[in-house]
Amino acid sequence: MSTPARAWHAELAWLPGSGVRPDVLIEASGDRFTAVTPDVPAADVPDGLRAGLVRLPGLTLPGLANAHSHAFHRALRGATQVGLGTFWTWRERMYQVASGLDPDSYLALARAVYAEMALAGVTCVGEFHYLHHQPGGVPFQDPNEMSRALIEAAAQAGIRITLLDTCYLAGGLGADGAPLPLEGTQLRFGDGDGEAWAARAERLGADEHGLLGPLARVGAAIHSVRAVPLGQMHPVVAWAQRYGAPLHAHVSEQRAENEACLAAYRRTPTEVLYDAGVLGPRATAVHATHLVGRDVDLLGGSRTYACLCPTTEADLADGIGPARELAGAGCPLTLGSDSQAVIDLFEEARRVELGERLATGQRGHFRAGELARAATTDGHASLGWPDAGEIAAGAIADLVTVGLDSPRLAGATRTTALASVVFAASAADVRNVVVGGRDLVADGRHLLIDDVPGALAAAIRPLLGN
Ligand SMILES: [Zn+2]
Repeated sequence: MSTPARAWHAELAWLPGSGVRPDVLIEASGDRFTAVTPDVPAADVPDGLRAGLVRLPGLTLPGLANAHSHAFHRALRGATQVGLGTFWTWRERMYQVASGLDPDSYLALARAVYAEMALAGVTCVGEFHYLHHQPGGVPFQDPNEMSRALIEAAAQAGIRITLLDTCYLAGGLGADGAPLPLEGTQLRFGDGDGEAWAARAERLGADEHGLLGPLARVGAAIHSVRAVPLGQMHPVVAWAQRYGAPLHAHVSEQRAENEACLAAYRRTPTEVLYDAGVLGPRATAVHATHLVGRDVDLLGGSRTYACLCPTTEADLADGIGPARELAGAGCPLTLGSDSQAVIDLFEEARRVELGERLATGQRGHFRAGELARAATTDGHASLGWPDAGEIAAGAIADLVTVGLDSPRLAGATRTTALASVVFAASAADVRNVVVGGRDLVADGRHLLIDDVPGALAAAIRPLLGN
């Protein structure tokens, strides 16, 4: 795809190594930044760049990476908050929605959800995808039809996607370590065994670098130690290795998972994943909420990413994970909207610090810059886009601009702008989004999809059946 040379003038921009700088002239050619120059007042922009120059009032950040998403859970927002309910009533409702989706309805839903993400400043999504087959587990004619619907949805919404093709084989772990069979809606998730999963994933047709298109790449996922027996993990690990692809897994989200895993294997979920060769610098442990000291050492020592999803972890009453310990041990942190309880990476970012404060009774665990890094640089790297997530010459040209003139942010200065955005912005404060050198959101309006709320409502209402 060829995009002509472009230039933007940011009132303030957060730049790697030098923090928030004023009057930043940002130039791009094709999908890459070619020059980033701070301290260029608008009046001094060279004549050759004035035509088509886009002014960006507010604070400009690199594109945000949503490192953990299940797009279809967006249909549950609100529906699972009516009345009281438990984790299990939430899961029942989630299965109901999953049972009603086909490639067309999932394309419509995911397109609208990814457009909502774009409006929130998300330029790259890691889609942890396990709804592979028809009801009863019968493959579609193209067994990757649901995956292709998601890739198409991201393309239509204008954002990058890493399709984390998820292996999901069992309905849980029996006390003797034997996997429980899939039941009901879960049958749609299963490929039979690890080798069959790898054979289907191979048919996605990624190139040798794992790319499926200019804005799409593959990754792999092991749903959890509950859903993939230890003996079936190897084909997933080997497939990810061959493509140099990201490899994600849910880890210790609920205490019950730890108990079942200890009973079955006499090891924690983290130990099982370590022994299976899953952990490492291309791997991400999602949640990592209920860990023991040795788990933290294994995750940190292997440089595994830890993806925190604090709004979901609060919504599902999972708990507060040891974010500071994980970061201190060597895990880069990333953020995800997971169940889409809300789609707002500023909210996810600040909750990492605020959760730590509530858990410890002390303030001051993460600086705003560390939280912003989780939402940008490290999030992209964990999804296989190490050259995105920074505003620097040579990097992929993705930008997000947050207006500082809303009631929430008015009064922010250059010194406080980044902390104000991380600790007080909402997704609604995002004004402009650029993906691969092209404008995607301008003045809060999605340029490819006119009516995002209308698209969401039209996709969701039929799925709720009332
Ligand atoms: Zn998840």
